[in-house]
Amino acid sequence: MRKNIVAGNWKMNKTLQEGIELAKELNEVLSADKPNCDVVICTPFIHLACVTPVVNKEIIGVGAENCADKASGAYTGEVSAAMVASTGAQYVILGHSERRAYYHETVEILDEKVKLALANGLKPIFCIGEVLEEREQGKQNEVVKAQLASVFSLNEGEFGNIVLAYEPVWAIGTGKTATPEQAQEMHAYIRSLVAERYCKAVADNTSILYGGSCKPSNAKELFANPDVDGGLIGGASLKAADFKGIIDAFK
Ligand code: PEP
Repeated sequence: MRKNIVAGNWKMNKTLQEGIELAKELNEVLSADKPNCDVVICTPFIHLACVTPVVNKEIIGVGAENCADKASGAYTGEVSAAMVASTGAQYVILGHSERRAYYHETVEILDEKVKLALANGLKPIFCIGEVLEEREQGKQNEVVKAQLASVFSLNEGEFGNIVLAYEPVWAIGTGKTATPEQAQEMHAYIRSLVAERYCKAVADNTSILYGGSCKPSNAKELFANPDVDGGLIGGASLKAADFKGIIDAFK
């Protein structure tokens, strides 16, 4: 059966020293009071090799926020999936709306990133979600369906390593959260698409996280929905107490 997961996305925040401190603090609070779900922290590249050894792997997984769409070579400034995996990280966020919007990540680029991540043993946390204008026009389902093409080209075995994150772009960092009903409706739709592409068993095994202004005060009602299997957390993952508050929604 699918896992409940709370994953943090630190984005471009925290110096190396601040990141190590936050990872240690989280490790301490979660070791003292064990979570009832999987916990992942996705950090900037420079943090990965220092954060992986300070967290207990049994309690906290580590991931990158991106990886290159090329395997290796003359791509100045890029970091490959193999390099991410060599730090001990197990996950990588791919298709985040900020990368789609600001760094022009196309479906073709994401297809390559997903393949390279999987080939290097990383689990992609693959983000999908509509912008406000698309929701206002009632186009959210078709947008999300089109974005899923990047992972629906995978075979069933490969898809088993994918975690999906529904992140309505209008809710990211805006303080405007999707209602539990809006989240459930979209998550159920996404699961129906997975069932249609693969089968019901695969759909039942797929973790679908909600992301967008999730915080300790709203996590419980969001995660209580049958098709919401946890969250991808931005701002609220930057403070151990807030992140723990969200993790505790599963208690
Ligand atoms: C995100 O960027 O993945 C996110 C969900 O951000 P926030 O929680 O800050 O809205």
